[in-house]
Amino acid sequence: MTVDLNIVDDDGGTLYCANHPETETLLRCNRCNKPICVEKCAVQTDVGYRCKECIRSVQDKYYNAEGRDNWVALGVAFVVTLIAMPIAGLLLSRLGLLFGGLIALLIGSTAGTILAQLIRRAVNKRRGRNMRWFALAGIVLAALVVVLFMPYLLFSLPALIFGVVAVSATLSFLR
Ligand SMILES: [Zn+2]
Ligand SMILES: [Zn+2]
Repeated sequence: MTVDLNIVDDDGGTLYCANHPETETLLRCNRCNKPICVEKCAVQTDVGYRCKECIRSVQDKYYNAEGRDNWVALGVAFVVTLIAMPIAGLLLSRLGLLFGGLIALLIGSTAGTILAQLIRRAVNKRRGRNMRWFALAGIVLAALVVVLFMPYLLFSLPALIFGVVAVSATLSFLR
């Protein structure tokens, strides 16, 4: 891959930033070729300098979620948490602090990854900027419901460890 700095001088004239007409520049965006100033407009990427608009439009292609996907993510997270949390909680709170904590650490991230994969599948693998926050909202809502019926889970360290590890795995996987 060649890094193209696009240091310009096609017509010999001075270039001015497209967004800041008083700022002289030597750079052009290597995607749309617009002159951009180093101070405010140029963003260095793996493939050279680009303007913010181009970076945004590349991200828009990456983040291809449709309007309802976030709600699907929230719903799946809610249902899965509602089912899995009482089971995991029951088992873990019976295992004792040390062993339970260890198991929680071991299976927490697997459980979180499975949840994230279920969500990804439910939205046809589309990605959304805010999808993981919707998933988090679904998890939190379900956790509140579960805790209403099983308040002792709040005092079970293994259950809490499991929750934290699982949630952080879900969030990082959905990025
Ligand atoms: Zn550009
Ligand atoms: Zn500028």
